Amino acid sequence: PLFLWGCWKFNWVGFSLVLSWIKKDINKLMAKYNYLIVGAGLFGSVFAREAVKAGKKVLVVDKRCHIGGNVYTEKVEGIHVHVYGSHIFHTNNKTVWDYVNRFAVFNRFTNSPVANYYGELYSLPFNMYTFNKMWGVVTPEEAAAKIEEQRKAAGITEPKNLEEQAISLVGTDIYEKLIKGYTEKQWGRLCTELPAFIIKRLPVRLTFDNNYFNALYQGIPVGGYTKMVANMLDGIEVRLQTDYLKNKAELDGLAEKVIYTGPIDAYFDYELGTLEYRSVRFETEVLDIPNFQGNAAVNYTDRETPWTRIIEHKWFEFGKDAKGQDLPKTVISREYSSEWKAGDEPYYPVNDEKNGELYKKYKALADKENSVIFGGRLGEYKYYDMDAVIESALAMAKREI
Ligand code: FAD
Ligand code: UDP
Repeated sequence: PLFLWGCWKFNWVGFSLVLSWIKKDINKLMAKYNYLIVGAGLFGSVFAREAVKAGKKVLVVDKRCHIGGNVYTEKVEGIHVHVYGSHIFHTNNKTVWDYVNRFAVFNRFTNSPVANYYGELYSLPFNMYTFNKMWGVVTPEEAAAKIEEQRKAAGITEPKNLEEQAISLVGTDIYEKLIKGYTEKQWGRLCTELPAFIIKRLPVRLTFDNNYFNALYQGIPVGGYTKMVANMLDGIEVRLQTDYLKNKAELDGLAEKVIYTGPIDAYFDYELGTLEYRSVRFETEVLDIPNFQGNAAVNYTDRETPWTRIIEHKWFEFGKDAKGQDLPKTVISREYSSEWKAGDEPYYPVNDEKNGELYKKYKALADKENSVIFGGRLGEYKYYDMDAVIESALAMAKREI
């Protein structure tokens, strides 16, 4: 400052710099909040809770008409409907598990989807029940021998794409009936053009275990995710239907710092181009029957059926209401996967090389925004599960506050 003081009389640049410092300081003094948090999803809500715990003043805004972001649930016919796709909480992180349990009681739901291939039903993830139904094998040794036989016949030594990776993990029959159609519908690309790592998310077990996840802790918050997020935001000021980017100047003036969890490319008005996403369309129906498919998730693994899966929401809570009574109706959602275009809801970031390169360029711009922190699934363009997004928000709050 002394140096600038010395030269500001001669140097217009120095003078403007001093002025802008003073202006920033005045803004900080005038700011009503320490943090403006853009997005009332899990990242924003966890950060808000931690900031308030540390004595900070925060304002949360969201452009939607509800809190919760994509984990939002809505009660229909007594059933908590997962409006933006089914969400099953699972984690190996004890700190995160203890954290969420402060805001909700979790039930003992275990994800065990069923695959439907032209009416033939198979257990998922791939395990002894699947192998028995597919080949009639009874022992783990027989199942391993069958997979090895099919892998050898396909002549794959080093898998180069999803198709080769899948065949070398579970053989040709399972690839053809349970993987190929589903994957090509979900990603809108041929299995030979998709990276091998996608299929490695799915466990393959030589045991009779239908639990989809290899996680220590798993469940659904009793009373729905919205209630859990409302508990996180208890006592915190939230403004809904408020689009930050449309009211940026006014909202920026309210706080010292911004935590931004919206799409990173939208923040910069897409000046370097648009990041790609896969989108999902949900068709939700109330049915006047108590049981449509007997399971929370049924995957349609053939290529012809246009939807990828059907979710029957009541089975996340064992078909009962809060008093433990059986519910007379049911709500189902068919999921259709599609390429994202402007105006659609962005769901899955397409983490390929092209998008990775573009994200890096946006990240470099983001790093220069001194009073804005980018976080969460859209702010970091990253496929985060819920536990990972909570872990990341807690770490960010620790560093920042
Ligand atoms: P979001 O929940 O997207 O929240 C961001 C918020 O910012 C939104 O509410 C949005 O409206 C708001 N916003 C954006 N731009 C603006 C703006 N300009 N102004 C104001 N507000 C704005 N994870 C699991 O662990 N288990 C699962 O089973 C699972 N299933 C999933 C299924 C699907 C179909 C999808 C897409 C994801 C699934 N996930 C699952 C991942 C999970 O949804 C995310 O980890 C989590 O929701 C990310 O939280 P977030 O706060 O980063 O983002
Ligand atoms: N998959 C499949 N058949 C199924 C379920 C999954 O082939 O019945 C494949 C598909 O390629 C998918 C991948 O396994 O992208 C990972 O599945 P997961 O359910 O973990 O996908 P998510 O929807 O969580 O990304």
